[in-house]
Amino acid sequence: MVDQMSNKMSNKTKGRPNNQNGYSNTIRSIVFTIVLICFAAFLITNMNYGTVQKTEVPISEVIQRANNPDGDIAKITVMGDTLDITVKGKDQPTETSRKDGSGTLYDQGLVNYCEDLTGDELASCQKQYPTIEYKEDVDVWGIVLNVALTVLPVIALVIFFSWMMKQANAANANSLSFGKSRAKLYGPDKKKVTFKDVAGNESAKQDLTEIVDFLKSPKKYEKLGAKIPRGVLLAGDPGTGKTLMARAVAGEANVPFFSISGSEFAEMFVGVGASRVRDLFSRAKKNAPSIIFIDEIDAVAHKRDARGGAGREDEQTLNQILVEMDGFDNDSGVIVMAATNRVDMLDKALLRPGRFDRHVNVALPERKDRLEILKVHFKGKPVEADVDLESLAKKTAGSSGADLANIANEAAITAAREGHKAISNKDVVEAFERVAIGPERKSKVMNDKERKITAYHEAGHAIVGHVLPDSDPVHKVTIIPRGSTGGVTWFLPPEDRSYKSIYELKDILARAMGGRVAEKLVFGKDAVTTGASSDLKNVASLAKSMIVEEGMGDGLRNLVFPEGDTGYYTITTGKPYSEKTAEQIDTEIRKLSDEAAKRAEEVLKANKDVLDKLAEELLAHETLEETELEPLLKSAKLPDSVKLYK
Ligand code: ADP
Ligand code: ZN
Ligand code: MG
Repeated sequence: MVDQMSNKMSNKTKGRPNNQNGYSNTIRSIVFTIVLICFAAFLITNMNYGTVQKTEVPISEVIQRANNPDGDIAKITVMGDTLDITVKGKDQPTETSRKDGSGTLYDQGLVNYCEDLTGDELASCQKQYPTIEYKEDVDVWGIVLNVALTVLPVIALVIFFSWMMKQANAANANSLSFGKSRAKLYGPDKKKVTFKDVAGNESAKQDLTEIVDFLKSPKKYEKLGAKIPRGVLLAGDPGTGKTLMARAVAGEANVPFFSISGSEFAEMFVGVGASRVRDLFSRAKKNAPSIIFIDEIDAVAHKRDARGGAGREDEQTLNQILVEMDGFDNDSGVIVMAATNRVDMLDKALLRPGRFDRHVNVALPERKDRLEILKVHFKGKPVEADVDLESLAKKTAGSSGADLANIANEAAITAAREGHKAISNKDVVEAFERVAIGPERKSKVMNDKERKITAYHEAGHAIVGHVLPDSDPVHKVTIIPRGSTGGVTWFLPPEDRSYKSIYELKDILARAMGGRVAEKLVFGKDAVTTGASSDLKNVASLAKSMIVEEGMGDGLRNLVFPEGDTGYYTITTGKPYSEKTAEQIDTEIRKLSDEAAKRAEEVLKANKDVLDKLAEELLAHETLEETELEPLLKSAKLPDSVKLYK
């Protein structure tokens, strides 16, 4: 139950959906391959040299034994300074030694007695003295294996650790492949999604029709020198059909559609995210006119300071997206679409002109849209005549398109399980209850009491805002729950302004209090609910900034206490003000919020009849637009006592 000030907050409570599939298959196969190579190398090495560990013996001992006619050495193989010794009766070296001191081994006394002998002479010589073989060439294969054995585990370790770090950074690692983007291509041949498959959402569809028109006939726009839209950002709650909408644009325009999810970028090794972006854009350009769709872009394009220093990798990927978008020619024929349910989290650089400068809001469906969506998803399923989609649409306030699709599917499953030939209304009701109220789904469906409290709460915001002279006009009121809130009252400024007066700020405080005050007025002091907590937080933070940052406190006028780098911090309190001033600040904040509550109360008491009527209309229609609000609010008056503050 928030008003305009806190609209942004309602989104913040939602995490992005994460696809925790555990380890990725690709990672597994990479690690597996490396292990296999190491194992093979290990085997080959040991086949060459045998599994017996060679014992090291001093060179002097070797020479002594070699010169003994009854010695035990059959053969000595010399490679550089290393000697491998094979004793009689063995066919592989079991001992090894190392030349030390200067001079050749011959100089040191290692004589090859059997050299130059042949036939019987050689045979009898070999019975007494060892054959000495000097191996000139280095054992290349052995060196390769040695290097491989040393290097491969290091590589494996490096990969393993960077993988671990990625896991730590991105909990939702679900896939990994190098370099090439794995963007899915929904070409014209694939099963086409069109606007017909997207029910409701008329205003979003209208916005996107223009994009479709551009993709179909770009010449028309170029001739008139029109700047072609480059980036379109679809914003809305999860499951509202953003992905579906983007595919419908591609289907309508009949162009290739390259789609990739931001979370897929987010878990790349260093540099891979950026190279994927490059690849994605170059493929799209080759197939122009085409659409690039980056789903869940917040995963990679969150504010660079939002998480206390975004990952460098994300930053590189984001930068690459910006570079690619800036590098587009006007006639490249590629439109970049992106979807997010957290616009507030996006890096501002993405929203600048020439980037994602078109915003299309995909809202949670209202009752008539919910009915349309239900019809889409029940179409093609056999249903009994008694199925009442109208009442289902009425009951599902706050459900997204995905929720509704889910209910339709559950109904079919229920019917099948029960052995019905067609879906009956009972199946539908059961499916709804399982999906909406069931223990595992906390969809925002309110009971009648909560709906009534919400209606009065929002009506309170609307009336106070409408009546006070310096508040923006009421734009829309809804009791459809949204994110963590029960309802919303929007106020829209008639024009863009840079400054707000103290009167305006006081009116904002009062209308924020309007919700809680209306609840108290109608349901009594005991009925104070938790639904106003975000309103109260907003009041607290706005009041504080009025006092501390804007110098608007009665007793502290024109004094500001900036925190941060420029602040002057007193030694005793560690704050930019003394204990005494701190107390004064608290008093001033309290004064502002008390005053706001009092003004709201006076307004609502004087307009109780309007409050009742508005709440009643909200209960009946859920959402009231500006034009519908006007006749209802017309009779609301500003009491004289409240005027005094101006
Ligand atoms: P988002 O991307 O906004 O999270 P999706 O586009 O993935 O939502 O929607 C999920 C599913 O919900 C869709 O595949 C579709 O079946 C259903 N859906 C959502 N919105 C609509 C709609 N307006 N009309 C018909 N089906 C919808
Ligand atoms: Zn509220
Ligand atoms: Mg989506």
